[in-house]
Amino acid sequence: MLCLTLSHKTIDADLKEFWNNRPYIGLAELRIDCLDNLESDEIKDKIISFPSIVDVPVILTCRRKSDGGQFTMSEKKRLSIIKKCSEGAFSYVDIEEDSHWNEFEKELSNRGIEIIKSIHDFNGIPDNLFLKMNRMATKGFIPKVAVKVNGVKDLIFLFSAQEKLKDIKKKIIIGMGDYGVPVRILYKKIGCFTTFCSDNEVAPGMLSPRSLSELYRADRVNAQTHIFGIIGNPVMHTISPNIHNPGFHGIRFNAIYVPFLVDSVRYFFRLAEMLQIHGFSVTIPFKRDVIPYLGRNTREVTQICSCNTVIRERGMWKGINTDYYGFLSPIIPEFDNDKIKTALVIGAGGAARSIVWALRNHNCNVTILNRTLEHAKSLANETMSNYDILDNAYKYSGLSDIVVQTTSVGMEPNYLEDPVPSLNFSGKEIVYDLVYKPNLTKFLSRANEKKCKIVYGIDMLIAQGKLQFEAFSGYHYPPNVNPNF
Ligand code: NAP
Repeated sequence: MLCLTLSHKTIDADLKEFWNNRPYIGLAELRIDCLDNLESDEIKDKIISFPSIVDVPVILTCRRKSDGGQFTMSEKKRLSIIKKCSEGAFSYVDIEEDSHWNEFEKELSNRGIEIIKSIHDFNGIPDNLFLKMNRMATKGFIPKVAVKVNGVKDLIFLFSAQEKLKDIKKKIIIGMGDYGVPVRILYKKIGCFTTFCSDNEVAPGMLSPRSLSELYRADRVNAQTHIFGIIGNPVMHTISPNIHNPGFHGIRFNAIYVPFLVDSVRYFFRLAEMLQIHGFSVTIPFKRDVIPYLGRNTREVTQICSCNTVIRERGMWKGINTDYYGFLSPIIPEFDNDKIKTALVIGAGGAARSIVWALRNHNCNVTILNRTLEHAKSLANETMSNYDILDNAYKYSGLSDIVVQTTSVGMEPNYLEDPVPSLNFSGKEIVYDLVYKPNLTKFLSRANEKKCKIVYGIDMLIAQGKLQFEAFSGYHYPPNVNPNF
């Protein structure tokens, strides 16, 4: 069940967010430390009546500044406010691990209110965390930890709770920050009874109730759910979850696709074994780094030295390159009609490798232009292509059947940038931009004005994503599902 954290300055604003998100959640946390005029009797009365207005169990929380909250008065004052407000029909009260309010805690227990004992660490994972959680559980509390995840090694530790803390039936583990996002999404895999969400990022890495519920269907994860994902750095901007999750749902496949921010490929493979991950996409900068960990590769991966898809096959990791076929997919008819014989490729990075090889394997004469000449030269030597420095782009105007833009220039938020303003179009060439955000880049828009046939980066993204989907699930992407962007 998902818990909506309400952290507005007024109860009315909290109620508005609550009802907006009611379809997605089963629990709410009222963060009274964020309310204005908390000391006034009128506000306290509103807090007391809150649980009887809403139709889900409510957690009462008054978080100190030092734990990421807004409360700055004394501990005595905090206790007296929580005491008064807990007169409402709250199901849970959150009390920090170091607040030893024994009498109040006893009183709450006698009234059947469960106590969540919480530990927060915004820097990392504190020592003896699981020991502390075990102690809290032994005393009858629900242990809750919200800790900053600083890398995949920390993720491995938190996911080990699945086994090490399996005897604690009711617990909450939150991984803060972008590295911690998989813990928030896969909370049921660790055996947590809830995870927190909000329309505002109340804590670092928090997701919205709608995305957790509708996109990830996090509350439906169970022991049989197959885990897939994407690794990269950065990775949180990825729209691949919006391709795969709706696709899995469309074929009724019990599977989830999660973004993993990764700082070490080696540790990620360890995590993948631990979580029994069935397959994952690979993006910048790991498309080459994953290859030494693979037991088998397709011909494209071996040739291009770039792998964007990894699947578990007969107990072994297998590498596939769907960028190669995803790139070709929108322009296959042009090859079939012999319309592409010469190509100009802008950029010589990871994506360009797949593109140049795909063009060369289709008998195309390729020229690579790049900002750093050395990178262009090295790819050109490997693929028997021509190369030049990007500054000379104007010399190649109108000379190619297809121009493919593979740099990240022009990508949001820098959508006004054009990687090759000096390159002119004749109107006869096909112009293809790999950047998919925005859809119509400045570069493509110039080509469009010259009446060139244009191909959008999103078409390649969807084509390569659908091929990944087939590799992951064994099924075609459902034709009635539109990737959910
Ligand atoms: P990459 O390996 O980091 O390569 C980046 C390339 O862009 C290099 O050639 C680099 O030149 C060049 N570059 C970067 N900044 C530049 C600038 N300011 N001016 C001129 N050139 C610049 O990245 P990648 O993996 O190839 O990805 C590149 C783009 O393709 C990204 O936007 C990515 O999202 C997109 N992509 C799209 C799809 C799709 O399905 N549509 C698939 C894969 C990638 P230097 O060599 O001089 O550094």
